[in-house]
Amino acid sequence: MRVRTLTGGLAAALVMAGPALTGPVAAVPSADSARPLVADRVLTYDARAAAEFRTAVDRGAAIWNESVDGVELRPAADGEGADIQVVADDGWPRSLPGSLGRGTVYIGRQAIDQGHSTVRVTAHELGHVLGLPDRKPGPCSSLMSGASAGTSCTNAYPNAAEKAQVEKNFEGADAPV
Ligand SMILES: [Zn+2]
Repeated sequence: MRVRTLTGGLAAALVMAGPALTGPVAAVPSADSARPLVADRVLTYDARAAAEFRTAVDRGAAIWNESVDGVELRPAADGEGADIQVVADDGWPRSLPGSLGRGTVYIGRQAIDQGHSTVRVTAHELGHVLGLPDRKPGPCSSLMSGASAGTSCTNAYPNAAEKAQVEKNFEGADAPV
């Protein structure tokens, strides 16, 4: 006869530390600091460091606003901490997504100099912040195929699957009050 011993009847609670919010955050209302782990429905972006790409950033954001209902991108007001920072630099375009709907997007001049569409690049990188992975290689009809679709591809709109994924990512997101 076997005797099984059940151990750990009382499981220790695992306290998982989320990514620490470090660094100075200027003028953020305190009501903002204790958010539940759900994305916001309205995301702000700051394109003041996007230099010559500011117009393209606004266009890329507008394309997402036209394409999906579950999330909205709008420029941050002066002095308002933005969810998304958009920066121009001389590297390859990339994004450093944080939690869903937050992060830093780099509009790298390397790809623009090679002839890639600024608006497509911007919309693609914003797509990463909205939770989409790269789909490379892929056709021009896919936004997340990125540079793999070639410099002749100027499509800056997500396809049906990409739109559906973003809608799904933001399901249950905080509605604006
Ligand atoms: Zn990408």
